[in-house]
Amino acid sequence: MQFLYLAPVGLVQAGIDGEIVMINPISAQLLMPLSPDGSLTNLFTALESVAPDLRLQCAQYPKANGMVFEGEHIHLRADDSIRGTPQILSLTLLKLDAARVMAVIQDVTAEVRRERQLRQSDAWLNAILTRISDYALAAVDRAGRLCDWNESIARVTGFGEHIVGSPYSIFYPPDAMTGEHLLDRLREADTNGWSMDEGLRLRADGSQFWCSALIAPLPDREAFGDDPAAPRYCLILRDISDKRAATEKRRQAAFCDHLTSLANRRAFFEAAELELDRAAHTPRSLALIVFDADHFKHINDRYGHPAGDRVLCDLANVLRDTFRAVDTVARLGGEEFAVLLPSTGIEQALAGAERLRALVATRLVAADGAEIAYTVSAGVAILDGTAGGIDLLIKRADEALYQAKAQGRNRVAPWTPELTLHENTPQRSRNAD
Ligand code: GH3
Ligand code: MG
Ligand code: MG
Repeated sequence: MQFLYLAPVGLVQAGIDGEIVMINPISAQLLMPLSPDGSLTNLFTALESVAPDLRLQCAQYPKANGMVFEGEHIHLRADDSIRGTPQILSLTLLKLDAARVMAVIQDVTAEVRRERQLRQSDAWLNAILTRISDYALAAVDRAGRLCDWNESIARVTGFGEHIVGSPYSIFYPPDAMTGEHLLDRLREADTNGWSMDEGLRLRADGSQFWCSALIAPLPDREAFGDDPAAPRYCLILRDISDKRAATEKRRQAAFCDHLTSLANRRAFFEAAELELDRAAHTPRSLALIVFDADHFKHINDRYGHPAGDRVLCDLANVLRDTFRAVDTVARLGGEEFAVLLPSTGIEQALAGAERLRALVATRLVAADGAEIAYTVSAGVAILDGTAGGIDLLIKRADEALYQAKAQGRNRVAPWTPELTLHENTPQRSRNAD
């Protein structure tokens, strides 16, 4: 009996004809406004104006006992529901035996409203997904894997449902992102509330489009507990091909080398700062290769300065083709180039440098009827940890380059601690932009 009174829901015990035997305070509160004469003696009479067939449903219930109905929503009339009072009741009716029924009554106004709002926001989201044509929305789990697929992804990227479970880097051109970069962006989103990048992204058919990608942590993601496959981030890809032309022109002017269209010195140092910042959060190996054309002064002297320029452009093209999109290939000045390779160890960097050196040695550059052969030397260094920063990395690669030149040119040398210890190593002069 006490349970009935303290229960957090409305409970009414009544005879099979609806005559109330017991009613707890919550029920009384919920039903009183419905009663035509202010008295609460019969359950069916009290609800007659809003649920007229309760009496009949109960009478026609065929079994000796059981649930007559469960959680039926009763919408109260507008004049019954003045502001702040219930508008929707949920009613469950149990037949206890041939003579008795029990009603469970709850005010579900707030729940129903919430549900309706959710449905509305679903509809809103759906409108975004289907009507705004240049956005793709995807959910991403904590390892950066795509959790779902929808129409907007298909529309912007052409990818189908099979992408669920793949890392979101499938939208990036091959080699444009390392596994560590993928997680960096999630960490950035955790720290700053969002992470955004802009560049060429990939469609399913292999074509590329200029895109702005935003990653933001999802609200309420703690609710998923430890489930590794649960959505944690929202990824929004926006096709900004239209905007690109203008942006690209400005970017080009500020960050491109005029002769070769490679990244210039400024772009190189910005990329290096970013990589070092990332490495400070999640330690990784960062490699640098410095290339310098051999005896370039002779080439200029023999074939002329414009021919020398063509050789530099040829070298730039080979560099661009040899390294990954995630690597920064820059002209630091004169006939000196640098390649910054994120998440790369010494062996891998040496192999890349050697591949380029060997390729260059096979090339002939046509200029004014002549065919110019040329070679390059390279110094390779890696930074483990971030102490010393980019300056130390460049100093080491330069020391290694000097070693390669001293050993006869057209070769690749790695930095070793002895190179720095060797006090007589003269510092090479650097060409500035
Ligand atoms: P090493 O093998 O020791 O590197 O010899 P090098 O002749 O290549 O080196 P050095 O530093 O003595 O000369 C570099 C030459 O590169 C001198 C300079 O005129 C030339 N140079 C620098 N910038 C450009 C450029 O933009 N175009 C052309 N054509 N030549 C350039
Ligand atoms: Mg040179
Ligand atoms: Mg030089």
